[in-house]
Amino acid sequence: MARIGFVGLGNMGGPMAANLVKAGHEVRGFDLSDAAKARLTEAGGTVCASAAETVAGADVVVTMLPAGRHVEAVYTGEGGLIAAAATGTLFIDSSTIDVATARRVAAAADEAGMAMVDAPVSGGVGGAQAGTLTFMVGGSEAAFEEAKPYLDVMGKTIVHAGGPGNGQAAKICNNMILGISMIGVSEAFVLAEKLGLDHQKLFDISSTASGQCWSLTTYCPVPGPVPTSPANRDYQAGFTAAMMLKDLKLAQDAANASGAATPLGAEAAQIYSLFDGAGNGEVDFSGIIRFLRGTG
Ligand code: NAD
Repeated sequence: MARIGFVGLGNMGGPMAANLVKAGHEVRGFDLSDAAKARLTEAGGTVCASAAETVAGADVVVTMLPAGRHVEAVYTGEGGLIAAAATGTLFIDSSTIDVATARRVAAAADEAGMAMVDAPVSGGVGGAQAGTLTFMVGGSEAAFEEAKPYLDVMGKTIVHAGGPGNGQAAKICNNMILGISMIGVSEAFVLAEKLGLDHQKLFDISSTASGQCWSLTTYCPVPGPVPTSPANRDYQAGFTAAMMLKDLKLAQDAANASGAATPLGAEAAQIYSLFDGAGNGEVDFSGIIRFLRGTG
């Protein structure tokens, strides 16, 4: 069994670290929040006094932090993980961050003689608790193989997306599809309402026709057709509108930096920004249909 450092024990990192403990690993973690630290102790892990302390004797260090600036500070800032770690330590960053920062931090780790993968996830808090996350992994083949047994404990589907940063690239491309498609499906239901077409009828037709997609068939934004979708519980998240906005902004940053034309991605970011700005950040992202109806 391995000794694992874990930095960032929030809504996602907390249950991920708990699953590593359950699998028999020794987990030594750190977070800025006392409540998060207390949850690690409850789960059977050991709390450290700093991020740097988690790397002492660690085979692997996992980070699950809010954004790129936190990741850069924790890895390369004063008292950072890279300076504290022994050569050969494996780093796994599962935070959702911008591609450029992911590549910069991976290069700094590589220069110091350490392997690193970016391994953002989809599956939300439920997936983190159940150990069924999907990991999209960027890094060398060797680093991927080394990381996989740990990712297998925390997730169900582990995909190697290519070199450093490609895990983040896969995550933001996927979520840009999701944000755009959720708006598209919602617009279709709003139009159907105006035209007197029943929700269930549109669902029955489009879910087996060319309009079918995940936003319709698994996460339907109106109550009824898919009983498990957040629309049936007043858009209680699931995946919050604020998280969707974060990912759409990351996609726009990457599109601008790389020169990719993503007009619908830009429009989706703008629509979610208005929705978030109207106080709906904690609402499920499928609640965007209320905004399109002019009621949310
Ligand atoms: P969170 O805010 O609950 O947890 C982040 C934790 O990092 C907090 O506990 C915070 O105290 C800690 N932290 C911040 N700076 C730190 C530092 N310098 N040192 C130590 N700890 C520090 O967020 P979350 O929901 O767990 O999300 C984490 C990441 O996972 C984000 O990048 C998010 O985009 C991504 N993500 C979240 C979900 C979701 O449904 N919550 C789904 C997929 C991906």
